[in-house]
Amino acid sequence: MPPIVRFAPSPTGRLHVGNVRTALFNWLFARRHGGSFVLRLDDTDRERSTETFAQAIQDDLRWLGMDWDRLERQSLRFAAYDGARDRLIAGRRLYPCYETPEELEFRRKRLLAQGRPPVYDRAALRLSDADRARLEAEGRKPHWRFMLEPGDVRWDDLARGAQHIDESSQSDPVLIRADGTYLYTLPSVVDDIDFNITHVIRGEDHVTNTGTQIQLFRALGAEPPVFAHLPLLLGADGRSLSKRLGSLSLADLRAQGIEPLAVWALLARLGTADPVEPVDSLQPLVDGVDFARVGRAPARFAEDELRTLSQRTVHGLPFAVARPRLDDAAASLGEAFWMAVRGNLAQVADAAGWVPVVQGPLQPMVEGPGFLAQAAEVLPPDPWGDATWKAWTAALAARSGRKGRALFHPLRLALTAREQGPEMARLLPLIGRDRVLARLRGETA
Ligand code: GLU
Repeated sequence: MPPIVRFAPSPTGRLHVGNVRTALFNWLFARRHGGSFVLRLDDTDRERSTETFAQAIQDDLRWLGMDWDRLERQSLRFAAYDGARDRLIAGRRLYPCYETPEELEFRRKRLLAQGRPPVYDRAALRLSDADRARLEAEGRKPHWRFMLEPGDVRWDDLARGAQHIDESSQSDPVLIRADGTYLYTLPSVVDDIDFNITHVIRGEDHVTNTGTQIQLFRALGAEPPVFAHLPLLLGADGRSLSKRLGSLSLADLRAQGIEPLAVWALLARLGTADPVEPVDSLQPLVDGVDFARVGRAPARFAEDELRTLSQRTVHGLPFAVARPRLDDAAASLGEAFWMAVRGNLAQVADAAGWVPVVQGPLQPMVEGPGFLAQAAEVLPPDPWGDATWKAWTAALAARSGRKGRALFHPLRLALTAREQGPEMARLLPLIGRDRVLARLRGETA
């Protein structure tokens, strides 16, 4: 059966390298196994979720080149959650509690002081109907806890191996707050059931939710999906990235000209048994995605590494991939131009800087007018191609007696007005004979 996976961000902020890593593992896994990828916006928190963030998440994913087979919003699914709530209540797995946060905190401290685990004592189960009526008459509103079954919950985690959580040591989790709003736990499970999610791939910060969620799947009559929990990303210094994630948003990386393929290549391989290296398409990453190759240790994310990888990615980027991000002038110069300049770019947008070199106008840098005049005399006739530069400079070497830097450098200065740059053999035919002759004469062309 082809897998169905989901990426479930909350639209309460921009995507950053941490949650994008989860997204791309889901996507790669779906594509590798011919499955589908659901983008689920966890927007039940109506105060913190915004439409702007919901759109930005989609824009950021599209910038990465990620598509989705289905888009779902939790805010449109309250009827399904209410239905699940009612079934859990009918099955006596969800029960109302009336303790205030202060009362709970007091009990917690008392248990800790007694050296006992601070597990909720299910006092609410001992309330009579009359007790509840009295509390409600006082204006108290219940929050609702899920009754855990005691004992170990086990699962085979694709990334972490065999796991178990002893539910006897956990408090019954609150699924619904006193104001009636749902915590993340139940809606997520209801959605995973309704969308037939086969694999839940997410960060290991959710491992602790998994025991409860597995019990919830079963309480709702469903088989739990397969889980894969990825180790968290740390900073290069081994410290948590969480404080810095704000500055590691996709929006920032995009503004810095980071190549989307480099984001993929780094995040898909970081902390795995495979080397981080540039890719020129997603295919090698799709082919290589394998949770067995994800290490158990946290992956360390270094911005410098991303920047370097981004440059190396640009240097090998196919024209078809670069084209949509080139400005009109650079794009109109076509593949030959891109292939000539890409090895000299830090980012795709820098290609624009080479447009005047091939298209003009450019004020040449003249060093040795006599030599440049000789160069003009031996300039090969049209048509020009890849071999023209070699033929020209060989003729010029014979004519002038120069070689090496003395031969080549004045030509580069005159033709490009730059000390360094792409291979002249590739640039020359792009600049064209008329422009070359003008520049050798020192004219702006
Ligand atoms: N909205 C949740 C989060 O971003 C989803 C967690 C999950 O994948 O189950 O943490």
